[in-house]
Amino acid sequence: MARTRPPRVRWGTLLALVVPALLTLVTTVVLGVMVTRSTLALSDNVRLTQNLVDGNVRTLSQAQRELLRLESAVVAPGTPADQLELRRALAAQRIQEGTLDYQVQTLGNAGLLARSRALAETWTARVEPLVRTRVAAGTPGVALPAPTALVGRIRDLELGYNQLVSDAEITRKVQASAANGATDELVSGTRALLVVLGVSTLSFVALVAGTVRVLLLARRQQIVAAERLKAARAELQRHSVAVQTTDNPVVITDPDGRAEWVNDAFIRRTGYGLDEVVGRVPGHLLQGPDTDPATVDHMRACVEERREFTCEVLNYTRDGVPYWIALDVRPIVGDDGSVTGFVAVQTDVTKRRLTEEALVAAKEVAEETARAKAQFLASMSHEIRTPLNAVLGLTELLLDTALADEQRDYVTTAHQSGRHLLSLVNDILDFSALDADTLELESAPAEIRGVLDDVSAMLAPVAARSGVGLSCRVDPAVPPLVCTDVTRLRQVLINLVGNGLKFTEVGGVDVSASFESSPDEPAAGRLVVTVHDTGIGIARDRQARIFDPFVQGDTSTTRTHGGTGLGLAISTRIAARLGGGLAVTSTPGEGSTFTLTVPVHVCADGAPGLEPSPRQESVADVTALTVLLAEDDAVNRMVAVSMLGRLGVVADVAEDGQGALDASAATAYDVILMDVHMPRVDGIAATEAIRARGGRQPRIVALTANALEGDRDRLLAVGMDDYVSKPFRLEDLRAALSAVPTPA
Ligand code: ADP
Repeated sequence: MARTRPPRVRWGTLLALVVPALLTLVTTVVLGVMVTRSTLALSDNVRLTQNLVDGNVRTLSQAQRELLRLESAVVAPGTPADQLELRRALAAQRIQEGTLDYQVQTLGNAGLLARSRALAETWTARVEPLVRTRVAAGTPGVALPAPTALVGRIRDLELGYNQLVSDAEITRKVQASAANGATDELVSGTRALLVVLGVSTLSFVALVAGTVRVLLLARRQQIVAAERLKAARAELQRHSVAVQTTDNPVVITDPDGRAEWVNDAFIRRTGYGLDEVVGRVPGHLLQGPDTDPATVDHMRACVEERREFTCEVLNYTRDGVPYWIALDVRPIVGDDGSVTGFVAVQTDVTKRRLTEEALVAAKEVAEETARAKAQFLASMSHEIRTPLNAVLGLTELLLDTALADEQRDYVTTAHQSGRHLLSLVNDILDFSALDADTLELESAPAEIRGVLDDVSAMLAPVAARSGVGLSCRVDPAVPPLVCTDVTRLRQVLINLVGNGLKFTEVGGVDVSASFESSPDEPAAGRLVVTVHDTGIGIARDRQARIFDPFVQGDTSTTRTHGGTGLGLAISTRIAARLGGGLAVTSTPGEGSTFTLTVPVHVCADGAPGLEPSPRQESVADVTALTVLLAEDDAVNRMVAVSMLGRLGVVADVAEDGQGALDASAATAYDVILMDVHMPRVDGIAATEAIRARGGRQPRIVALTANALEGDRDRLLAVGMDDYVSKPFRLEDLRAALSAVPTPA
């Protein structure tokens, strides 16, 4: 989900713009007022100047001029009275005008006006009455003598006006120049104010523009943020619908893991209501008696460390019904990076867990069954071997007696059948051990050439009997010593070569061994042994199945060639256990090639001495040995005693372990042939007791029908020296006795 930030108003920027804008505005207004006031003052000055310029002392000058004309009229002889009266009236009018209040402006000050009024009073008091008198006294057409006094007074008055006009002119000039100076000052001040006003207006405009721009930007950001918020809300809504409608229980918790919200699926699955869950740690409600405490600790630790985790845990519903969930918990990280809570999504995995548990149980049962089967087969084989020992021993003894041909045939067949039964029992034991995976393999240095020589020496008589060739070739590249389980390798090769001989009538069997060294590791490689025959071959559709247990080529071959159908099943499993494989190619009527591949390690300095060498054909004289036979089974006792007799050995007999203990305490035997399973004291306990007794110790050779893996080691571990497996042959006994040091 896209994270949207709420639009942030840039108060700092706005303030930075608004405050200067306001200051500028106030300054502009103040400056405006100042400019207006100085402009008004300016206009006053201009008006004053105008007045001064326009309103000169014209009236007074005219008064002076009228006085001059009156004087002329008075002086001139024969001036008619009406003329004189006209001159008087005009002079009186101008003089009167010069006394009016407004003249204070044209004259420049009140002092000058006062002087004008004083002159007017002089006119009224001293001049005008004389003029009136002359007008009244004169007769029309009669000239009056010049009135010297009157003329003098008129002249004085005219001079007064002349002086006043000149003084007024001076005052006007002074005032005009003062007004001009003030005007100049006002003009320059106003100019400066206008400049400041202009600058301040420009800054105001710039600030207003900046403010508008910032506001527009903020608005645009706001719109973008609002759109994002809308999209985020829509996404949130979709998610919340998904979370609400999903079948997976979902819990949202605070950072300490206490539930803040759960969806419907949670309520349905657990049976708890929202109000029961909110504020509580869900685990406290859901975990129960069988919940794994380690898992709970792990979850708690993860929540404390505020980190995500997944796990599977057993929960319980409100009604106590257990169910398994897979839990996926993730922290919710806030804008500042801190964990503000967790989202836990649960998946019900009860079915899978139950299936897994059932599978594990089934596997355990299967393994137990396989073990029981192997155990059963081991017991069976033990039980079969004991009577078989008698059958084979007695028929072998019988064959050594004088018999009619027919009798010899019967006994031979009986003996061969016994041997066949024995190999069958051995195969079944091997197969079940491989199947139950209880067959233990060992790895020891072995000479491959020696193994192939053993196999061909062993089977050469068979080849000779059926008139087919048997050849064996070992590539020089095969290392002299390799590490492998040589016993099992030999077993597989005996089976393959034996089969080849069994199914070939014309031609022969070729065995060849080669070695493919590993490119990465010079000390490792693959041993490849091919067994090729020119026999009957195997039909293509059966080739894969011959490696299955109890499968044979066809029923007719079984009839003709015998066999159990277990050989290849065992061989292929051994090859697999050795890390390799067994494959076949075959053409019916032409022959077959079996290829065994086994990975091996090359032994540089190991000695092949660890591998028990095949027993030498015994030539030692065993007749001088003192021998005790401990055997509980009467028939087998008889067989063993008879065989020993054949070897020229007269043996003492004990019927169980206790008997062996007693007899060996009385007589120092060279060798004790000790059956293992005996009533009261068994062979193992008897051996341990004899060994514990100290003194001169006999060689103890186990006679046992136990043919399972590890039996030999177990017997040697309790103090026995050798081991003869039942059913044994005369030669086996002779070999065991030959290994006993001949008494001095
Ligand atoms: P067995 O030989 O005891 O019957 P195997 O498992 O060794 O059992 O062999 C299974 C079957 O494979 C044999 O019955 C036979 O039909 C066939 N088979 C094995 N080896 C050969 C061979 N070399 N040539 C022809 N058929 C063979």
